[in-house]
Amino acid sequence: MQLLECPIRNYAWGSRTSLAELRGLPAPADHPEAELWMGAHPADSAWLREDGGRVSLVDAIAHDPAATLGSRVRAEHGDQLPFLLKVLAAEEPLSLQAHPSREQARDGFARENRAGIPLDAPHRNYKDENHKPELLVALTPFRALAGFRDPAKTVDVLKHLSGPIMKHYCDMLAEQPDSGGLRALFTTWITLPHRPLRALLDDLTDGCVRYLREDAHGPFRPVAKMLLELAEYYPGDAGVLTASLLNYAELEPGEGLYLAAGSLHAYLHGMGVEVMANSDNVLRGGMTPKHVDVAELLRVLDFSPTDALPVGVYNASPGGTAEFIYDTPAPEFQLSRIELDATGLHHSVSIGVIDAGPQILVCTHGGVTARCEGEEIEVPQGAALWVPACDREVILHAGSARSQVFRAVVRA
Ligand SMILES: [Zn+2]
Repeated sequence: MQLLECPIRNYAWGSRTSLAELRGLPAPADHPEAELWMGAHPADSAWLREDGGRVSLVDAIAHDPAATLGSRVRAEHGDQLPFLLKVLAAEEPLSLQAHPSREQARDGFARENRAGIPLDAPHRNYKDENHKPELLVALTPFRALAGFRDPAKTVDVLKHLSGPIMKHYCDMLAEQPDSGGLRALFTTWITLPHRPLRALLDDLTDGCVRYLREDAHGPFRPVAKMLLELAEYYPGDAGVLTASLLNYAELEPGEGLYLAAGSLHAYLHGMGVEVMANSDNVLRGGMTPKHVDVAELLRVLDFSPTDALPVGVYNASPGGTAEFIYDTPAPEFQLSRIELDATGLHHSVSIGVIDAGPQILVCTHGGVTARCEGEEIEVPQGAALWVPACDREVILHAGSARSQVFRAVVRA
């Protein structure tokens, strides 16, 4: 096991304080810090210190896949780390997006190759052949849009938050309150010409302002505020209309949101731990100045109405250990949250099991000490630890009255 040196991605939507404070560095940082990448993604690998120099985790794994990944993971996923772990800090809303299924990704990747679209072209959708299920667990209160809301509820929301122009569309959805109706409405809105789009957006924002002024305790106040915020960040963007069709989730720290293939989503504000399959396949659906490929998006989106309920969490063993596992179906990863208390019952926990495969841990509160075969490593808050498959009997010890660690492994 070894500490990882992890790159930070400076996207414009990032926070200048969250990641710096997590890592105990001076805040605000000079630039927005959006994502801390802890993994072996070819675009931005983490690094391991090696006498005098450093080696990327990508190279370390390629050099000895048997020791780093172990036989189970190699057999199931090949000679690459199947997941990427991140800490994400959103100060401003990210674009609406969805990720393809494995089959869609394979088809799309081949199609774009045949068409001769370079991998780094701005209008390239498929960068690899993989799907990208993702799980986000909130570290702070976290706001997100995820999946299409039950259309009957959406009709109710729009009736309260908009005016005469929207009424026509509202009636359309009321007549066909299912995935077909959502698809029709989404397609109409995303292809509206500029002038009717502006008029419809004004109708919606005027409706939200009126609702907030007139109904001091109305149930749709959070949605109205969210839509006005998005309209301010993305004036004239049809994505704001789309946002009114999606579930608006406010996660508490520790709650997780799982995004399956085809689920339209956007992270709006907050800091969280995110784990995903090692893929770059993103289809944007609005709230972005970047390329939106409407035809491809329509091929991938899942319009079935859902609820954005937090992911179920279960205890790692019936005896009541300090580890809580997020229950998701993705084969590439399993994320758990470990809560330790230096003065209490759960002051240490064993995380090394035979055939656990590779593990990456990130300490999000307090600090921990990791021990393995006589070796000892301090993992301060904000630091990440790489545990190769060959390291067994790893034990984490709490460094403070409250130590919190997120642990990513390949699902068994
Ligand atoms: Zn995503």
